[in-house]
Parts: sequence; C-alpha cells; structure tokens
Amino acid sequence: MTENGDAATRRLFFALWPPAELAAGLDAIASAAAQRFGGKASRREKLHLTLAFLGEQSVAILPALHDAARRVAAAPFDLVVDRLGLWRHNRLLWAGCAPSPGLDALAAQLGAALASAGITWTERQRAFKPHLTLARKLPAATPAAEITAISCAGLPAWPCTRFVLAASQPSAAGSLYSPLAEFPLTAVVAK
Ligand code: ATP
Ligand code: MG
Repeated sequence: MTENGDAATRRLFFALWPPAELAAGLDAIASAAAQRFGGKASRREKLHLTLAFLGEQSVAILPALHDAARRVAAAPFDLVVDRLGLWRHNRLLWAGCAPSPGLDALAAQLGAALASAGITWTERQRAFKPHLTLARKLPAATPAAEITAISCAGLPAWPCTRFVLAASQPSAAGSLYSPLAEFPLTAVVAK
C-alpha cells in the first residue's frame, strides 16, 4: 500500500529496445536535429518503440501480464529504420521503420494476449503508429520537409529477438523507464 492507502501501481508499457549500435546512430541524428532546429533530444538509453501502452496498473497484475506476454508466439524479425517525421500536434521528432509484417504480427498478438487476459486500462489508447521518439518540444515552425530530408541510410538494421515490459516513472527531468522483464521471440518462421 502507498501512503494514501491505494494499492501500489506502476505505469506500464511493452516496447522494443534497439541494439546499442542503432541507438547510437539514432542518438546522433536526434542530437544534430535538436541542435539545428531546437528542441530536446531523447536520451540514448530511452530510445524505444512502444508496442502496447497499459497505463497505470496495480502491481498485482504483473504475474498475469508476464503470463500473457509469454503466450505471445511471434517470430523474430528485422526492422529497418528508414524515415524521420515531425508530429506538429505534440512537436515531436520521430523515427519510423519500413512496413514490417513481423512487427504488426507481434503487436497484434500482444494486444490479443492482453485482451484475453482481461487486462484493461483507462487512458485512451492511441492507434498503433510504430515510432521512436527522437526529440521533443521542437519549435512550432520547424519545417517538416527539412526533417523528412534527413537521411537514415547509415543506420544498421534492427534484428528484433525480444520485447520488454517496462515501467515509466514521471520525473521533473522527463519520464524514467525501468525494464521489468524480457520476452524472447521464439516462434519458428515457416519457410
Ligand atoms: P512523457 O510522458 O514524460 O513525455 P513518455 O511519453 O515517453 O514521456 P509515458 O507517457 O510514460 O512516457 O509513455 C511510455 C510510452 O508509452 C511512450 O513510448 C509513450 O509514447 C507511450 N504512450 C503513452 N501514452 C500512450 C497512449 N495513451 N497510447 C499509446 N501509447 C502511449
Ligand atoms: Mg507520455
């Protein structure tokens, strides 16, 4: 129980974390863009692609959540981060990837596993738009065409072999993320 008598809760999400070399490449792009346009680059270790956001949840559901994630029978896949974009409504610079049936299958299976475990959340779930947030608070007048013109050609491929359950803790310096568990993608790919 917390001080005010509520059961302990955590702000939870499932995500993919890029390998170090790709995170370094994205970090370089984010820092250069923030320097050029303004805004605040994400810290390298925070770069991630959210698969499912669960919001504030009682810690009592963690075992059920682990069971649901373990039931996801998705195969490993490769992602290619090949585009940058700007969302004006939240002034966010993001990196996106080439269409990936493997990613779509993972997100769909995870969503289905959570639904069949009866896991629900109150915060409105945004539509699945796979992205990594590279920088926030870009100036409102940032020219989108100059963002999309930045090349991602030098970035290494992203072999996705596991996904992560993480907790997000709001803080004055921005949300802090802690990984809670990792789930391997083990389904055999049909040839
Ligand atoms: P901050 O909120 O401090 O700006 P953040 O958005 O990264 O940082 P959280 O709000 O805890 O931290 O979100 C954790 C992850 O879940 C992020 O990738 C975020 O984009 C995603 N997320 C948050 N809210 C939703 C939502 N309602 N629907 C879908 N994804 C969400
Ligand atoms: Mg947020």
